[in-house]
Amino acid sequence: MDLQSFMKGVTRRNPAEKEFHQAVKEVAEHVIPYINQHPIYEKARILERLTEPDRVVVFRVSWEDDQQNVRVNRGYRVQFSNAIGPYKGGLRFDKSVSLSILKFLGFEQTFKNSLTTLPMGGAKGGSDFNPKGKSNPEIMRFCQSYMTELQHHIGKDVDVPAGDIGVGEREISYLFGQYKRISGEFSGTLTGKGLSFGGSPIRKEATGYGCVYLAEEMLKRKDECLDDKICLISGSGNVAQHAAEKLIELGAKVVTFSDRNGFVHIPDGATQENLNYIIDLKTNQRGSLKTFAGEFGFTFYENEKPWKITCDLAFPCATQNELDKYDAQILLKHGCQLVCEGSNMPTTIEGVHLFEEAKILYAPSKAANAGGVAISGLEMTQNSIRITWSREEVDRHLKTIMHKIHEQCVEYGNKGNNHISYLKGANIGGFEKVAKALLSFGVV
Ligand code: GLU
Repeated sequence: MDLQSFMKGVTRRNPAEKEFHQAVKEVAEHVIPYINQHPIYEKARILERLTEPDRVVVFRVSWEDDQQNVRVNRGYRVQFSNAIGPYKGGLRFDKSVSLSILKFLGFEQTFKNSLTTLPMGGAKGGSDFNPKGKSNPEIMRFCQSYMTELQHHIGKDVDVPAGDIGVGEREISYLFGQYKRISGEFSGTLTGKGLSFGGSPIRKEATGYGCVYLAEEMLKRKDECLDDKICLISGSGNVAQHAAEKLIELGAKVVTFSDRNGFVHIPDGATQENLNYIIDLKTNQRGSLKTFAGEFGFTFYENEKPWKITCDLAFPCATQNELDKYDAQILLKHGCQLVCEGSNMPTTIEGVHLFEEAKILYAPSKAANAGGVAISGLEMTQNSIRITWSREEVDRHLKTIMHKIHEQCVEYGNKGNNHISYLKGANIGGFEKVAKALLSFGVV
């Protein structure tokens, strides 16, 4: 099996889906050599099966805006693989949403969920609905209309959606309310729920915290720690906020945040007061970081990315392909020693290759941001046994899971000379469990 002809087939079968091609290629680069050493996987055509979603549901979402105009969006759910558990993955509401984006995310989710060690398959969904500037009643009507169709395809043992970009606790609550109303059952069919109706402590924090816990593990292996490290964060949403919170708590200096308008530089590191302001600005007012920079007298770099600031560690926490080869070059030139991806596929494939060649500590998103879905998995567990654990208990589980993810990366990504490719380790570690399950099922 060779990479080039495999990718040719993927491209031919999924024309113009460039994000999906990128996600597949990133996995195939490591998994194909592994398959060549384990011919049983080639014979069973495991990678061909894993790059074809189980099913894709596409539907119309009609809703009425505040001026009584009828609006039409497209809704999706890509159920990628339920080989090791019910479909599981977030919903993204953003104007950039397309089938290519959701297929890349669903594909990645399958490997990510496998790495968590919990029994969850992979899926992703969402809509090209743009929540920016919409009123609460508009968001509610959209969510209700979206769920009226989606409910046919999900269920607590079938497919359990959660949040992603543009879908936070408010949207999950509207979606859950509509699901409950139509199905007549109160179940754990969605995760990321409010704490008063089945949500898990730490779920909101888990992606950001987990990303920092993994960085800590990676540094520990090198006898290093987070103390006093200069960190760049991109983004200012849920993942960025909680990665920053944990980094500050553990003694690191968070010197940047970004949004769609540019980035803010905080030379001495953000304080908890700065962070509280950003959380309120982004969660409650949907404002721009420019306002934050003005309020505290920091420099705001319009339409620029934070990667040119000298740092020890970088945490991309905004969105896909936000860090290209030029950004990777400048990070490496400035001596960045670790990149831990809080957002999904933030680094372009050329950027990934540069990090790998430079042998810095580079954790791909499927390992680094798996803490979010892991706690979603534990929200499902708590819903099934009808108990809510304490914050401390869930946080303990999160640390253990991130530790196990690190162990799998070390096991499968050991390149000799004490060098670990976390990319290789995450790809093969994630693949192995799903591949074994598929083999056991025969030809399905
Ligand atoms: N959207 C998140 C992710 O990319 C979380 C998914 C979930 O909790 O199901 O992993």
